[in-house]
Amino acid sequence: MDTSQHLYSHHWISREVEVEGEMLSHQQCAACRRDFVWDGDAGRWRAVHIALLRFDFLDEETSRRWGSEECPGRQLPEDINDRRRGYRFS
Ligand SMILES: [Zn+2]
Repeated sequence: MDTSQHLYSHHWISREVEVEGEMLSHQQCAACRRDFVWDGDAGRWRAVHIALLRFDFLDEETSRRWGSEECPGRQLPEDINDRRRGYRFS
């Protein structure tokens, strides 16, 4: 199922960041503050939490949900909890 069409509903601020020698494409929505990073191995955008000098991938359920929802237009309180469920990626 292609759920990436909803990603176009966000107001993206895109940038390239270097994390541990690897260049990553990062997008943050100016409205809801959700963050995604392009996972080249998986060939899709994945939800992330921005930590200092690294990204933490959020769980698959959050990635699927954020990727399948239209932009909520504001930062949602429940997104804070989603970020807490993330795990460290390095
Ligand atoms: Zn958004």
